[in-house]
Amino acid sequence: MKILVINAGSSSLKYQLFDMDKEEVLAKGLCERIGIEGSQLKHRPKDRDMVIISKPMNNHGDAIRMVIDALIDPEHGVIESMSEISAVGHRIVHGGEAFSQSVIVDEQVMRVVSECSDLAPLHNPPNIIGIKACQEVMPGVPMVGVFDTAFHQTMPPYAYLYALPYSLYEKHKIRKYGFHGTSHKYVAQRAAVMMGKPIEDLKIITCHLGNGSSITAVKNGKSVDTSMGFTPLAGVCMGTRSGTIDPAIITFLMEKENLSYKEINDLLNKESGVLGVSGVSSDFRDLDEAVEAGNQRAKLALELFAYSVKKYIGQYAAVMGGVDAVVFTAGIGENNPDMRKRIVEGLEFLGIKIDLEKNNIKGKEIDISTPDATVKTLVIPTNEELMIALETKRLVEAQ
Ligand code: AMP
Repeated sequence: MKILVINAGSSSLKYQLFDMDKEEVLAKGLCERIGIEGSQLKHRPKDRDMVIISKPMNNHGDAIRMVIDALIDPEHGVIESMSEISAVGHRIVHGGEAFSQSVIVDEQVMRVVSECSDLAPLHNPPNIIGIKACQEVMPGVPMVGVFDTAFHQTMPPYAYLYALPYSLYEKHKIRKYGFHGTSHKYVAQRAAVMMGKPIEDLKIITCHLGNGSSITAVKNGKSVDTSMGFTPLAGVCMGTRSGTIDPAIITFLMEKENLSYKEINDLLNKESGVLGVSGVSSDFRDLDEAVEAGNQRAKLALELFAYSVKKYIGQYAAVMGGVDAVVFTAGIGENNPDMRKRIVEGLEFLGIKIDLEKNNIKGKEIDISTPDATVKTLVIPTNEELMIALETKRLVEAQ
């Protein structure tokens, strides 16, 4: 079975075509600058060089048509015809409270996803456009929606409610939703496989540390708490996002600095985090270089980040009544041994102990704990696209 996975943004569209019999990627790529001058498709067939096709893409429909053309192209294609694609899996950012699982997309689903756009105005509309474009170009092919929020729908009310007037939850659905769910679910499942134990018997803390970062407590295979909240701004300090701060700072700053809603929003989302503290960069590689060169604020930004992640590990061990494994994933979690070391330093009292030589690794699935550690520390490269493809296969086969 061949499954196409689509992640549509406002002016971009990422894709991967999977052969699910072998769980391997046949081709992947990216459409850039959709609806903008200079649009192009970067297409990489398995074991072959990337090709760049520059051609106007006025909308997402044009982009999907170009992707299909590239996939069936006699020279750099990987399939003979579009009919080989059994289903399409779509990443959808926000499923609100309506979706606790992936779903086959029908008109009713599209209506509810549109209603969730209020909660994710930047993300859900392009996701919807991506689905509609595929439906138009590939009529009759099942479409599946996989939501970033769905995995966290198992949180109990005392974990997802904010201590605000309850009427605001009823009126505006203000509550914690959590994000990166597909990634947290994937790495938690891999952790259970690596440990040779059923996920139902495990307490796992998954640390998705990238440009956006979130930590999740996964108890018996279910998300019971997560660090992001109503929006992806909450939780740990991130590349450019503040993470959780005293909410009173917002009104204080709006008044003192005469900031508009948009300005304070930009300050918290784009000018804060390790970028804001260091004044250097949001990229941890740049920060490492700056620290080497003696930059004290870059050092402080890294310390602050590690401290904020460490605190969540402590919180979530408390929430679950213990922990069996801590998982590191995403850009920083997979590739930054020094940050992993900083985060787990001092957590020996919990049974977390890493082997510094084993830790000195990038982008590989590996157990980096010492033999006497009672908690496993695992590095697991995330694979959200494979997870979406697996969900799509499961739903299509059950149809
Ligand atoms: P992500 O949002 O998951 O792509 O993560 C971005 C962050 O991961 C950046 O701060 C990078 O410094 C870090 N990162 C990504 N790839 C690498 C790599 N190969 N080596 C070191 N750091 C990396």
